[in-house]
Amino acid sequence: MSVIKVHDKQFTPYITADKLQSRIQELAAAISNDLKGEKPLFIAILNGSFMFAADIFKYLTIEAEISFIKLASYKGMKSTGTVVQAIGLDEDLFGRTVVILEDIVDTGKTLSQFLPQLEHQQPKKLLVTSLLTKPEAMKYPINIDYLGFSVPNKFLLGYGLDYDGLGRNLPEIYQLVEQA
Ligand code: 5GP
Repeated sequence: MSVIKVHDKQFTPYITADKLQSRIQELAAAISNDLKGEKPLFIAILNGSFMFAADIFKYLTIEAEISFIKLASYKGMKSTGTVVQAIGLDEDLFGRTVVILEDIVDTGKTLSQFLPQLEHQQPKKLLVTSLLTKPEAMKYPINIDYLGFSVPNKFLLGYGLDYDGLGRNLPEIYQLVEQA
C-alpha cells in the first residue's frame, strides 16, 4: 500500500484490509453472541456502508434480515431546520430487534435525527453499529453499541467511503494528506 491520488488530493494508507476484516469478524461475533434467537433486522445506511454491511452480514452466525435505506435531507419548516427522511424502509419495526449499520459517525447529526424516527415505531431494541467514529468531531452524542475503530478528525476514503464519488472500491481505508 502506498500513497494514492484521487481527484486532486493525496491519501495515505490508514487501516489495512486485513485489520478491517479481523475487526469486523470480532464485531459480528459479539453481535451473534448478544442477539442469539432474536432474528434481528439490520438496516444498512447507503451509500457508504454497503461494503461494511456485506462483510459483517457474511460473518454473522445467527438468523438475521437486512434492509438497505438511503437518507435524504430536505429543508423542513423554519423551526425544524434540515429533516432527514429514510427512503426504502418498508419493514414494520414494532417489537423487533433492529441494528443500524453505519460507515462512520462523524458529528452524529444524521443519526441524531434518524434514530428518534425509528424509536417512534417502538422496536424492542435499537442498536447502532458503526465501523468508524471521530470522537473529536462528535457534536450530537450518539451511543454506538458496536464500534470498529475510533479515528482522528481527518477525512477518510476507501472501503465504501468516497471522495466526490471515487474511492469506494478500495479494500482498505486511506487518510487525506493535508497539504501545507
Ligand atoms: P454525521 O451526520 O455523523 O456528521 O455524518 C455522517 C456521514 O458523513 C457519514 O455517513 C459519511 O457519509 C459522511 N462522512 C463523515 N466523515 C467522513 C469521512 O471522513 N469520509 C467520507 N468519505 N465521508 C464521511
